[in-house]
Amino acid sequence: MQNKFSRRDFLKAGMGISAAAMLGEGKIARSKSNESGKMVVIASGNGLRTVYKAMEMLKNGDDPLDAVVAGVNIVEEDPDDMSVGYGGIPNEDMEVELDASVMHGPTHNAGAVAAMKHIKTPSKVAKLVMERSDHALLIGTGALKFAKAHGFKEENLLTDKARQRWLRWKERLSDRDDWFPPQEDLDEELQEALRNYGTINCCAVDANGDLAGVTTTSGLSYKIPGRVGDSPIIGAGLYVDNTVGAAGSTGRGEANILNCGSFTVVEFMRQGVSPEEACLRTLERIAETSKRQPHLLDEEGKPRFGLSFYAISKKGEYGSARMWSGGRFVLHDGTTSRKEEAAYLFKRKQRR
Ligand code: ASP
Repeated sequence: MQNKFSRRDFLKAGMGISAAAMLGEGKIARSKSNESGKMVVIASGNGLRTVYKAMEMLKNGDDPLDAVVAGVNIVEEDPDDMSVGYGGIPNEDMEVELDASVMHGPTHNAGAVAAMKHIKTPSKVAKLVMERSDHALLIGTGALKFAKAHGFKEENLLTDKARQRWLRWKERLSDRDDWFPPQEDLDEELQEALRNYGTINCCAVDANGDLAGVTTTSGLSYKIPGRVGDSPIIGAGLYVDNTVGAAGSTGRGEANILNCGSFTVVEFMRQGVSPEEACLRTLERIAETSKRQPHLLDEEGKPRFGLSFYAISKKGEYGSARMWSGGRFVLHDGTTSRKEEAAYLFKRKQRR
């Protein structure tokens, strides 16, 4: 059946009508005031430069989504951060595939890209999906074509450092194949990096109480090509409700997708729970549902994976929690930027 009212008609008709009028009651319209007037930016531990940049832009009166995206672009373009954008750890086929999502509180709109190759800044493309298409998520070659239509240039995202990590992983995968590792021992950093996750999430609230968030990643290292994590899934890796707060995540995407983690954090905050407590309660739920998948559990029945949430409320309260102890998140409260210890569900045993 054909729509009686085409999108083009809708766009034309919408011109000249204020956003508030189009929204009828104006319930999701831009906030008039923030009770506390506090500007806050929160990010995962790799986001020190990100929160600084985003806060600078909030102070300048920029939209919170522009601010957080500009903040994470610094990390996406940095070849030394091997968990995001350019220089990210590649998939099983030695190709870098990126996932990202953005969500804008005032319009309750979102955009995302998944398994996209060759573009350094997937968060910018996700924002364009939101602003310049009628869709919420584009994947693979479709996402790449869309990016190119908007003038993005295809680039090689695989740095030499990331290629070497891939090669070490490949060589140590099996002693029954034809790939031989070199004789020297792996250094500790390389050991750690052989199988890891990594992502950046950043959420912000401006002086009006308007919220926005972004999550961007190269995903699980050496993943099966086409594997999509939680980062580009609205409700899992990111969720924003302009009347309540914003939340995002890093860590094992599969566990998060199966529990709509960021949405759950925001829903707990809606019930009046603090951001930190909302993150903890969500992790508790994820730990509980994970019990139905024995391969995810350690010998004590606890999840053997890491997962973290970062959250801010409309009033500028903030908090973060992780499945396992021993990690920090980053915050800018308008005065200083700093790292803070995240709350946790389970205490990691000391390594001997
Ligand atoms: N959450 C990301 C994913 O599962 C990876 C990460 O945060 O480390 O793709």
